[in-house]
Amino acid sequence: MSLTRRRFLKGIAAGAFAAATTSVWAGSETPGSPTPAAKAAPFQRRGIHVSAGSHDDVAPLEQLIGQFAPVLGLNWVIIEIDGGFQYKSHPECADANPITRDDARKLAALARDKSIQLVPMYNCLGHQSWHADKGALLRAHPELNEAPDMDPNAKDFYCMSWCPNHPGVNAIVFDLFDELIDAFDAKAFHVGMDEVFILGQCPRCKGTANATLFAKAVNDIHTHLVDTRKVEMQMWGDRLLDGNKTGFGSWEASTNDTWQAIDMVPKDIVMCDWHYGMDNPDFPSIRYFQDKGFRVWPSGWNRENSIRRFIEVARKESGPRMVGYLCTTWVGVTPVVKGLSGEPIDTTQREQRRLPNLIAGIKLGAAMAKGENPAVAGT
Ligand SMILES: [Zn+2]
Repeated sequence: MSLTRRRFLKGIAAGAFAAATTSVWAGSETPGSPTPAAKAAPFQRRGIHVSAGSHDDVAPLEQLIGQFAPVLGLNWVIIEIDGGFQYKSHPECADANPITRDDARKLAALARDKSIQLVPMYNCLGHQSWHADKGALLRAHPELNEAPDMDPNAKDFYCMSWCPNHPGVNAIVFDLFDELIDAFDAKAFHVGMDEVFILGQCPRCKGTANATLFAKAVNDIHTHLVDTRKVEMQMWGDRLLDGNKTGFGSWEASTNDTWQAIDMVPKDIVMCDWHYGMDNPDFPSIRYFQDKGFRVWPSGWNRENSIRRFIEVARKESGPRMVGYLCTTWVGVTPVVKGLSGEPIDTTQREQRRLPNLIAGIKLGAAMAKGENPAVAGT
């Protein structure tokens, strides 16, 4: 199973958009008008995150960057690549049929032409497998596995982690980051770091607090990306939120104490604050990250009520460090482009069954990020 589909199994019910969703866009609807006028200023960053790890994804990426993103008003595209690049420094860390350097340069040129910021992404620390199915890094370098003795086929096993204290890990992954930054001519780099559940298992890490281990990984990576390579560092913010205090729980936030690392990492990291449901409709994380000194990039998915409410809170809490809205997708760029192009969607196929809601969510999020408030999602 592809790593890119992992969120389907997170227990987030993605029910059909409710027709009777209460508008939370206070005062924005014009009486008697079926299409409320734009009332708000566009967010600075209007982004979409997609997964693409194959040369076959290049044509859909070109469509996304060259056609659909401009139409939707999106100006940032984050591409989750992981092992899907033809790495030259560590060819063993590449999947089959990867995106090539020439592909990346072509995509970068197209993005420049369209005034779109292109951001390569590599999942760091966690998400090194889907259950027993390892990503390219741990397949090639099993010595980096934080917990090789854990049974990845156990019912409650999620994803493997790399060991943040392994003496060889940074030398390898920093080479990979460098290749992606150079090939995509990137000014920003996304390091993932969401949903890290396996920490402190190996002899090097045992006995060290989870927050300390998590902060070490963040700080090591930050030193390379920001201090050495002078690019912006972006990451998912969930591990730095207290899952109990916020009510976000153990997925959208942390219940294994990594949240204590919030004051141990640099403030210039852009926190992609993802929430897909309504566990806490006040979305206090938008204010929290800003109060802590971080830029925050609220990131939604495919549920209309959550997207509407999340963006409303983002506007209400919009200070100079609230940078915009990011659409996440979690199906791969090929079905996303298929959905955006209006091709028929076969919802009996597993890959496509949630695509209608996703496409509607992307269109809704993109429109609201531009300052519009469509009465009907997906229009
Ligand atoms: Zn370790």
